Amino acid sequence: MGRLPAAGVGKLVLEAERAPAGEDRNTRRRALVSLVVKGVRELGSELRQVVIIGSGPAGLTAALYTARANLEPLVLEGELSSTGDQPGGQLMLTTEVENYPGFAEGILGPLLMGQMRAQAERFGAQLLPAKATRAKLTDGGPHTLWYRDPSTGDEVQVEAKAVIVAMGARALMLGLPRERELLGYGVSTCATCDGFFFRGQDIAVVGGGDSALEEAIFLTKFANSVTLVHRRGELRASKIMQERALANPKVRFAWHSVVTGLVGTDKLGGVMLQDVRTGEERELAATGLFVAIGHVPSSDILRGQLEVDEQGYVLTRNGTTATSVDGVFAAGDLVDHRYRQAVTAAGTGCMAAIDAERWLEDHEDIAGPNEGSR
Ligand code: NAP
Repeated sequence: MGRLPAAGVGKLVLEAERAPAGEDRNTRRRALVSLVVKGVRELGSELRQVVIIGSGPAGLTAALYTARANLEPLVLEGELSSTGDQPGGQLMLTTEVENYPGFAEGILGPLLMGQMRAQAERFGAQLLPAKATRAKLTDGGPHTLWYRDPSTGDEVQVEAKAVIVAMGARALMLGLPRERELLGYGVSTCATCDGFFFRGQDIAVVGGGDSALEEAIFLTKFANSVTLVHRRGELRASKIMQERALANPKVRFAWHSVVTGLVGTDKLGGVMLQDVRTGEERELAATGLFVAIGHVPSSDILRGQLEVDEQGYVLTRNGTTATSVDGVFAAGDLVDHRYRQAVTAAGTGCMAAIDAERWLEDHEDIAGPNEGSR
């Protein structure tokens, strides 16, 4: 069995993320990928005890727990990219995280994820910056997964007795130039996470559904004013949320309006709004823009194999992380569209690891394609 470089990927990630933003950090990140790619090539298609897909708080907590149970988990972390799909998940796109317990002074999102990776690796988890491309899940296992070798693009196959799926969900974005660059610098997709930073400021929320109204109302606890920017003259949200928002003196409405641009270089100073009826453009002074136009779970590779709800969130059973396929467990935002917090994702990642460990104890006899077992 090939091993990943002994240096410890998590430690290197921490060093990379502590480097000043810019070329140095990017060079370190690139060096990190090529180092890990060496390890990827050494992995064969033998039968693993457990493979975890996803490396946000849910995936890495599952990795920590299964590693400490001597299950030598393999984690398919996702590919380096600038979306919520990259290794480390959505917290890689945030700055300060102040509501993760244990960090009295707060911690940067990427640093927190670096710590989680290092902690999982310390106990033997193998982390690969590779994207799972396909899955063949079989009731009772073994399951077959394919991932893309990040250096060659070739598909590699791996077999697992148990699988933990924790690919999370992506916040839908507006698709504006520099929108992702400004995430954590005025642009946010999570009011619970970032609202506190906008105390006394004038900010905006985009969207007309329950999420947008919930965020707008929540943000009035901190902000001086919250302008809800909605593309129509009628809200999609439930009546009760509409009534609350309309009655809140701090919530203003920009009806029939879309955001067409972001103002500010290093951090947000305003948003350009366009009236969709007249085409007229104006600048709204806002130091924060919360994008609340919906989320999509990253469950594409599971479609048709696992039971999901109408929005694609994976369904779990009886208060556990067990899914509709025996031997497949699900955790984090891939399941949860209600709480969506790092700490709740980590909690369900722990549950999935314990569920998988107990399941494996009862299924020791599973054999792989070559009758080999680890
Ligand atoms: P949603 O109901 O799909 O609403 C998305 C909103 O964003 C809509 O108003 C939509 O406008 C707008 N939008 C979509 N794409 C846009 C774009 N590119 N530019 C500008 N605006 C855009 O999503 P959600 O609010 O996240 O809610 C998802 C589900 O969770 C819903 O079933 C909701 O009821 C539920 N939820 C419930 C609660 C609660 O009960 N407390 C809280 C949050 C969410 P249009 O209206 O014009 O389509």
